[in-house]
Amino acid sequence: MNVILIVVDALRKDRVGAYSGNNNSLTPNIDEIAKNGTMLMNHITVLNGSAPVIVSLFTGNYPKKHGIHENGFKFPDNFKTIPEYLNENNYTSCGVVSSGIISSLYNFNKGFKYFYDNSKYDKLTLWAKKQGTIRYKIRKFLRNTLFKFGFFNKFVVTYDKTNKRILDWLDVHHNKNFFLYVQYFDIHEDTYGERNKSKDKIKNYDENVKIVDSAIGEIINKLKQLNIFDDSLLIITADHGEDLEEGQHGRNISEDEFGVPCILYKSGLIPIKKVDNLTRVIDLLPTILDLNNLILPNNIDGISIKKSVFEDINLVDEVFLESYSLFGDIKGIRTKEWLYTLRNGNEEELYNIMNLKNDVAKENKDLCLKFRIKVKNHFSIKYEPGERDEYTKQMLSKLGYVK
Ligand SMILES: [Zn+2]
Repeated sequence: MNVILIVVDALRKDRVGAYSGNNNSLTPNIDEIAKNGTMLMNHITVLNGSAPVIVSLFTGNYPKKHGIHENGFKFPDNFKTIPEYLNENNYTSCGVVSSGIISSLYNFNKGFKYFYDNSKYDKLTLWAKKQGTIRYKIRKFLRNTLFKFGFFNKFVVTYDKTNKRILDWLDVHHNKNFFLYVQYFDIHEDTYGERNKSKDKIKNYDENVKIVDSAIGEIINKLKQLNIFDDSLLIITADHGEDLEEGQHGRNISEDEFGVPCILYKSGLIPIKKVDNLTRVIDLLPTILDLNNLILPNNIDGISIKKSVFEDINLVDEVFLESYSLFGDIKGIRTKEWLYTLRNGNEEELYNIMNLKNDVAKENKDLCLKFRIKVKNHFSIKYEPGERDEYTKQMLSKLGYVK
C-alpha cells in the first residue's frame, strides 16, 4: 500500500466543503475524498507555526519533546521520522515541499530518498535570517519587491511547480511501494495575498484554497491514470489553520488555528465515516504504521488512532497547545468539550467548544485549576504554592493515598 500525505499549509477546516457543509464548496476534490473516507472531526494540532508542527507530525512528538518551537531551526537528528520507519519496510520515499522553512537547508529532508524544494528562496530567507530580528522586515521587503516586479513564480514554489515535480516523480517511481509527502504553500499568509491583487484578504484566501484543491484533484487523477489510486492510503490535512481577521497565524490560541481538517482514504480499508473523538497531529505517524501492520514505537507521545477510526473508541483525552513563541507566551489544552488557554503563566481563558465566543473562566474556577495544573505540568511551568498542593493532592489521590 502506498502512503500519500498531503499537507495544505494553513488550511482552515471551515474552508473544506465536506466540513462546512457549504453548498458552494471551495474544495470539490477534497470533498470527494472525504465523502468516501474517514473525516476526523476533532483533529487538533499542537502549535500554530509550520516547522514545529511538521517536526511533530513526522516524529510523533510534542514540541516540548523535540524542542522545535519556531521556524528557522534544523529538524533534530535524534528523532526517527515517518520515511525512516517506512524505508525499513521496503518503501521508497519522496517529499515535495513548497516552503523554505521546511526545506533541506533545515534538514527537513531527513529520511527521504527523494526530496524536492526550492533552494533559491531558501537561500534568500537563510541570508535574511542571519540579519537578526530585522529579518522579518527584510523578508517582507523582499517579498513585496519580488512580487511587485513579477518574480513571485521564480522564488516561491507554487502549486503548478509542486505538481509538476510530483507528476514527474510518479511517472518514474509508481511501480514501487512508496511514501509521498506533499506540502502546498499557496494558502499561507506569505503568498495568498500576493498572487491575487484583491485587497480582500478573505477573498484571496478562498481563491487560493480553490487553486490548491484543483492541484490535489490533478494528483488524484494521476494516481487513477497510473492505476495505483486503489492501492494508496491518502491523508489530506493541514499543519495549522489561519486567523482570517488578522490574515495570519501564531498570535493566539483559537479553534480556527488549532482545529484542522484531516481526512483518511483508502479503498477497501478506511471506513466511510466521521470520527468525533479527539485526535492529534502527533498521532498520524503511529496510525500510518499501524494501518500498514508495522511495529509501533513505544517512545513517542503520539498513539495509533486506528481503533478510533474502526471502532469509535475514545483514545485521546486532551491535547496540549502552544502558540508561536516569538509573538508571545500562550499555552493551552483542548479536550473534547473545552478549550483552555494560559497567557504569560497566569491569565486564563476558558471556552466551551459549543460556544467559542464566551470566555467562561470566571464561572469555572475548579475546571480552570485542573487545566492550569495539567498545562503547567506538561510545559514544566513553575507552580504557585497553592497549585502545587492541589496537584500533589490529586496525584496522591490517583495513587490511592488520599480518600
Ligand atoms: Zn504552516
